[in-house]
Amino acid sequence: MKKQFAVIGLGRFGSAVALTLAESNCDVIVIDRNENKIKAIADHVTLAIQMNAIDETALKEAGVQNVDVVIVSIGENVEASILAVMILKEMGIKEIIAKAVNDLHGRVLANLGVDRVVHPERDMAQRVARSLIKPQFLEHIELSPEYSIVELPAPKSLWDKSIKDTNLRAEYGINIIAIKKRYTINETEKETWNINPLPTDVIKKDDVLVVLGTDRDIERLR
Ligand code: ATP
Repeated sequence: MKKQFAVIGLGRFGSAVALTLAESNCDVIVIDRNENKIKAIADHVTLAIQMNAIDETALKEAGVQNVDVVIVSIGENVEASILAVMILKEMGIKEIIAKAVNDLHGRVLANLGVDRVVHPERDMAQRVARSLIKPQFLEHIELSPEYSIVELPAPKSLWDKSIKDTNLRAEYGINIIAIKKRYTINETEKETWNINPLPTDVIKKDDVLVVLGTDRDIERLR
């Protein structure tokens, strides 16, 4: 069965989330009080409803209680964001993701029991800054102040070695959690993912590694 989502608030963030989910063939209900925003997206999603997100009866009629995940993406109107989350919690929504516009807003949302609070501008700014400081890291997800998941081109010292022979776990305390294989067919670049690779899998020159470890150890490996 298709995964079902509801996106409440069609600012830049909410619209981009809704369209990406819809393009990935998910069922997406979108809600906004602004008629023009609803009209603009209606053809691209499963259901687009113009309504006030803090109207509990209307939320139920829209079928929001049946979806797997609700994304609350109301920003500037912090009061509406908080009230919408409270109502959704009371409705027993399984998973709520909410956008915060500042730290205090984020803390309130977390205290209300939101499963994941996102700070799009702050998070993106940090990613851009990190990519400038460490351009060799393609992606960097900070798990804790010490641990990260990093995507990096396979270092030359690992080429043509099996994961077991690299001895990364023993020597560096680093785990390879995925390998992206890049290759060219008919002058077109393709890529495939080897998730959870085996100890016998061999690392090649153009591979990209996704590794988990402490920042210090990952830096050492690089
Ligand atoms: P972004 O930065 O993602 O563009 P934003 O922070 O500017 O978004 P807002 O403009 O505050 O976000 O709100 C996003 C959307 O939420 C708007 O389209 C607005 O119409 C809608 N919205 C705000 N309050 C409500 C509400 N009570 N019910 C339904 N929709 C609402």
